[in-house]
Amino acid sequence: MDIKSNYSLEKSNTFGLNVVSESFYIVKNLKDLKNILWENRAKKITVLGGGSNILFTKFLDGLCLKIDLKGIDIIEENKNNVVINVMAGENWHDFVQWCVNKGFGGVENLSLIPGLVGAAPIQNIGAYGVELKDIFISCNTVNIKDQTEKEFDQKNCLFGYRTSRFKTIDKNIYIITSIKIRLTKEKHKYNISYGSVKQEIGNREINLESISKAIIKIRKSKLPDTNILGNCGSFFKNPVINESKYFELKKKFPSLSAFKVEKNQYKISAAWLIEFLKYKGRSIGNVGVYKNQALVLVNLGGATGKELLTLANKITSEVYNNFKITLQPEVEIL
Ligand SMILES: Cc1cc2nc3c(=O)[nH]c(=O)nc-3n(C[C@H](O)[C@H](O)[C@H](O)COP(=O)(O)OP(=O)(O)OC[C@H]3O[C@@H](n4cnc5c(N)ncnc54)[C@H](O)[C@@H]3O)c2cc1C
Repeated sequence: MDIKSNYSLEKSNTFGLNVVSESFYIVKNLKDLKNILWENRAKKITVLGGGSNILFTKFLDGLCLKIDLKGIDIIEENKNNVVINVMAGENWHDFVQWCVNKGFGGVENLSLIPGLVGAAPIQNIGAYGVELKDIFISCNTVNIKDQTEKEFDQKNCLFGYRTSRFKTIDKNIYIITSIKIRLTKEKHKYNISYGSVKQEIGNREINLESISKAIIKIRKSKLPDTNILGNCGSFFKNPVINESKYFELKKKFPSLSAFKVEKNQYKISAAWLIEFLKYKGRSIGNVGVYKNQALVLVNLGGATGKELLTLANKITSEVYNNFKITLQPEVEIL
């Protein structure tokens, strides 16, 4: 087995942080995965996909497993739907484009989200009014401790806004090896509820391709290219608060941006809170807040994970002092 020692993860995380892993191994098949887990059962295991939602703040002890399981299979098909099994190591955006090209609907709004398929259920990836849970049937997993396989259906994944059981009660217990999703072949349910998507499509026909293209264009204009400016997309989740707290804040800050998510619950724009505190476009040493999107923390060059964490903590405490709201990171901090 080709286990690398003292391996630099600089090219394996989109913040571009030069962190070293004690040992590193690329997993190519299921048998391999079970063997390496068994042989290294005494070690701490870290699972890595595309590294687009991880902030490494220190030397990574133990074994880092990069998931490279490949394969896309249509396992059921009828006139209206397809069920597809996708292995965890497939690139998410390439898979979305494969679906769009084949005329399979349901994932087009999730175009250009970085990372691999296996990480998609971890935080129930979402964008432009669609979440993974909307098309998800189940995922297959391998237990890190005893190498047993287990399938979790949609309900059992406990999906929520940027969360799942794999990020909460079962954190670091399972490795997702594949996911199963159901997509439409006919009568697609297009979601262009976001004004910017509608506007970008303009007079063109609304179809899978035009929606995907519009979203790619919008994302490219709003988010920094990770090859140029290291980042992990939104660093914080949008906080959800109760109605009375929302009305209290709205009275004090009339331009506060928020929308009702359910009875008595409001989702507040974390970007608005950060922008209000004049962090948008600000840089502190090697790190900063992206000029076009206040939720995105960036590595301006040569930053360490600790510097990014210090900035995140500073923002979190200022948001709390001003609004009595505790921001939660969307990014996994290691
Ligand atoms: C520019 C940019 C834009 C983004 N936009 C969005 C967006 O619109 N919506 C959104 O939801 N996210 C977005 N993200 C965040 C990120 O792309 C997603 O969370 C993505 O699913 C992470 O995939 P990854 O393979 O890079 O995961 P990684 O960063 O490698 O891992 C993330 C977490 O999942 C765990 N993990 C990874 N693979 C597995 C596996 N197979 N089994 C078990 N655990 C695993 C890791 O241990 C870690 O805890 C964005 C990121 C960037 C950089």
